[in-house]
Amino acid sequence: MATTLITGGTVVSATGRGAADILIDGERIVALLEPGSTVLGANLAATADTVIDATGKYVVPGGIDAHTHMSMPFGGTTAADDFETGTRAAAWGGTTTIIDFAVQKFGERLQDSLQTWHEMAAGQCAIDYGFHQIVGDVDKASLQALRDLPGEGITSFKLFMAYPGVFYSDDAQILRAMQVGADTGLMTMMHAENGPAIDVLVSQLLEQGKTDPYYHGIARAWQLEEEATHRAIMLADLTGAPLYVVHVSAKQAVAQLASARDRGRNVFGETCPQYLYLSLEDQLGAPGFEGAKWVCSTPLRSKHEHHQDHMWQALRTNDVQMVATDHCPFCMKGQKDMGVGDFSKIPNGIGSVEHRMDLMYQGVVDGKITLERWVEITSTTPARMFGLYGRKGVLAPGADADVVVYDPAGHTSIGLGKTHHMNMDHSAWEGYEIDGRVDTVLSRGKVVVGGGEYRGRKGDGRFVRRDPCQYLI
Ligand SMILES: [Zn+2]
Repeated sequence: MATTLITGGTVVSATGRGAADILIDGERIVALLEPGSTVLGANLAATADTVIDATGKYVVPGGIDAHTHMSMPFGGTTAADDFETGTRAAAWGGTTTIIDFAVQKFGERLQDSLQTWHEMAAGQCAIDYGFHQIVGDVDKASLQALRDLPGEGITSFKLFMAYPGVFYSDDAQILRAMQVGADTGLMTMMHAENGPAIDVLVSQLLEQGKTDPYYHGIARAWQLEEEATHRAIMLADLTGAPLYVVHVSAKQAVAQLASARDRGRNVFGETCPQYLYLSLEDQLGAPGFEGAKWVCSTPLRSKHEHHQDHMWQALRTNDVQMVATDHCPFCMKGQKDMGVGDFSKIPNGIGSVEHRMDLMYQGVVDGKITLERWVEITSTTPARMFGLYGRKGVLAPGADADVVVYDPAGHTSIGLGKTHHMNMDHSAWEGYEIDGRVDTVLSRGKVVVGGGEYRGRKGDGRFVRRDPCQYLI
C-alpha cells in the first residue's frame, strides 16, 4: 500500500490543537507522530511514497455535510447538481463525506425509493456518501420498512411538517413514525414548519398581488417554525424518540431546542451557512426577481430581529450542534424562473456544498467560534450524530484518511468564474471573501484536490454504512 506523510502542520481536533505529522497507509491513518519522527531509524519523510508539506497550515478531518439533495425532485424540476457534479464541488471545498436523502414519494414503496437512490449515486461520487431516508408516505408498509433501515446502514429518517400534498406528515403519522424511532434507535429528522398554516398565508399574499420572492419569507413566518419545532419536540418527548431538527433558522426555534436540551432530552439542531450570513431584507428582498436565488425553506430571517447573531451564539453554546448546507441548487434560468409572478412556484433551495468549510472558517477569523469548534460543527459532531465517528470526523489511527490541509494565510474569492464548481448559473455566495483557503484534500488516502487542481474521480466515493447515533445523552 502507498504511504503518505502529512508533515509540519498543526493538527486540529474538536478538543485541541498541536504540531503532529500524520502517517497514512493506503486508505487509513496509521499514526500521529511527533514532527520529524523516525521509525526504526528511518526518516519517515524520506521513506513515504508521498509527502505533503503542511507547514504553517491546519490539518483537520475532512468535512461531513450531513444534509444534501443531489438530483432532488422538487416543484416539477430536479436539483441541478447530480452526485457527480455535487460531490466534485464538495471535494473542492474540503468536504469528504455527504449524507444525502433517498426520497420516498407518496404511493411509492420505501424500499424502492432507497434502491433508486443507490442506483443514482453508485459509480458517480468523488467522495464517500451515505443516505438518510425521507418518508413521504407514512403508512403501515413504510413504518414496517423503517425497521429494516439499520440493517441497510441507514440510521435516520426525515419527516416533513411542511409541504401538504407532497411530503407532509400529519401529527398522527409523526407520532407513529417516532414510536418506531424510539423502538429502533433511528434518528427522526424533522423539517419543522407548519405547512397548512403557511399555505393559507401563501394564497392570501398571492391574492393581494404580493408575488415577489420576498413574500416567500413573509409567508413562512418564524412563529410557524417555532410552533412546529415545539410540536416536534413534544411528540419526541412523549415517544422517547431522539429528534434532530434540520435547517433551524429562527432564534425562537433555537430557544425551543435549548429548553428541551435543558430538560435533558435527546433533541438536536442543525443550521446552515445561509442562516448565519444572509437575511430576508438583503437577499430575499433583492430588487426584481433576484431574490429567487435565496428562496429556501426554512427561509432567510430578518436582520432587524438579529436571528443571524443568535445563531452564531447558539453554535458557541451548543444549543445548535452542527452546520450542514441543505445543498439543493436550482438555476435561475429554467428553474427558479418558474416562479416569476408567483413566489410559491420558485423551487426551494440554495447551493452551498462547496463553501461550507470556508464560510464557517470565516467565523473563526471573525472571532465568532474557535478553531476547534469549527472542526466540531463541520466534521466531528456530524460524524457522531450520524454514526460515522471513528471512521470519519477524527484524525486518529484507524480512521479513514479523509484529511483537509487548510491554509490560514490563503484567500478564497467565492463566485462564478472564481471558485465555483457547482452546476449552477449563479452563486448564492457571489462576492464573499474568505480569509483562508482549502489547500489539499484527501479522500481515503487519495489526494482529490491539490496544487489548485481537481485530482478526484467519479466512482472513487463509496457508500458508507452508518451506525446508530453516537451523540445521545
Ligand atoms: Zn433539505
